[in-house]
Amino acid sequence: GDIVYLHRVSKRYPGGHDALNDVTLTLEQGEMAFLTGHSGAGKSTLLKLIALIERPSRGQVVVNNQNIAQVRRHQVARYRRNVGVIFQNFNLLNDRTVFDNVALPLVIRGETRDTIARRVRAALDTVGLLDKERQYPMVLSGGEQQRVGIARAIVAKPPLILADEPTGNLDPALSAEIMELFQRFNEVGVSLLIATHDVELIRSMPYREIALQSGQVLDRAAAAPFESGG
Ligand code: ADP
Ligand code: ADP
Repeated sequence: GDIVYLHRVSKRYPGGHDALNDVTLTLEQGEMAFLTGHSGAGKSTLLKLIALIERPSRGQVVVNNQNIAQVRRHQVARYRRNVGVIFQNFNLLNDRTVFDNVALPLVIRGETRDTIARRVRAALDTVGLLDKERQYPMVLSGGEQQRVGIARAIVAKPPLILADEPTGNLDPALSAEIMELFQRFNEVGVSLLIATHDVELIRSMPYREIALQSGQVLDRAAAAPFESGG
């Protein structure tokens, strides 16, 4: 089945033109796909709709078989437990240690100290940062900071990960490392939708590319993993 299904979705910001215009697409359970397009194409907006950071103006967004129009404001935090989000600028809290940054989603949902410690260390181990748990983000390299952001996104083991230009601030070697991490998550069944304008980085990677231009999907056939009827 599909983990993400957008049906004829449009998004108009107040006073603006359509950031997304009649977008239909699917992401299969267990699939990793790239969302590409120039700056302003609508990539961030599309991810924000799935993460319930923004609401669509028209159309339906279905995630994990749930029409997310039905997620009420007070239910959004609970909904987001199932969606890990990774940002270009890392969005780390600079006055908290690496451990505390990664722990945040678990603290918010009231997990016990033991559970938090166990899962934070498992997440840091996954991204290769176990030895940095007492450091503060500012002393880490860009690649390390992004791996902290990734550890935070995976610490609650969400089935879906959204990444918005996750390698936008990283050099090519570090970008490749981050992509390898994503591939490893995908190999254990996590679904990923990764927005990037870095066509060089993803050129040799065997994943579907959904291309946006001016708020529309360029090639409708590429918006679903199989031909219609499949
Ligand atoms: P991308 O991520 O591909 O760069 P965005 O989704 O950020 O594209 O932006 C798509 C379009 O929507 C752009 O024209 C952008 O200026 C506009 N836009 C994005 N966010 C807002 C907002 N909060 N208010 C008004 N316009 C916005
Ligand atoms: P990105 O390139 O990573 O999408 P942007 O610099 O386009 O980031 O946008 C940064 C923030 O500003 C986002 O939250 C986006 O929604 C918002 N934004 C983008 N374009 C506009 C706009 N025209 N008006 C208001 N907010 C915008």
